[in-house]
Amino acid sequence: MLLERDKLTDEQLQELLHVMQKVNSFDYNAEKELVHMRGVPDVAWRTLKYQLESRGIIRKEQILPFSVESLILSIREEEQERNQIKQKNLEAFLRWIKTQGCRREKLLSYFNENLIQEIQPCCDNCGARLPQINNKGHVSSSLLPWRKTLMELFNVGESKHEETT
Ligand SMILES: [Zn+2]
Repeated sequence: MLLERDKLTDEQLQELLHVMQKVNSFDYNAEKELVHMRGVPDVAWRTLKYQLESRGIIRKEQILPFSVESLILSIREEEQERNQIKQKNLEAFLRWIKTQGCRREKLLSYFNENLIQEIQPCCDNCGARLPQINNKGHVSSSLLPWRKTLMELFNVGESKHEETT
């Protein structure tokens, strides 16, 4: 998702597009002058450039005629659609966090797949526990190093080339 600080305001967008309307050749120098000298954030510019290219407005260092008003409308609409998708994904993720069912199964079904083979230990909802957490839910006093804990969790052996951390 575009961060708010990377998003151009309507005024910025309008100003930029009005200038672009008057530019015929849009080569590297023209781009530099237009964008970098105005202090347009890099991410915001790259996003806008992509939006213009995907609409066929920027083509081969040329800017084709366009209407500023309808372009802004179209850009904002696209952003809104994208935000709705992100929101939906976030909601699905939150449902997954709060689920009482098998997380593996839920995750697979999100990608339209089924759990074919049962895997043990499966997930926390199926009773899998970290080895060093006792049944009262308290972390035992002797904590293993993080590397060892991760390896146990993923059932992998010690790495040969130990890094010193
Ligand atoms: Zn499970």
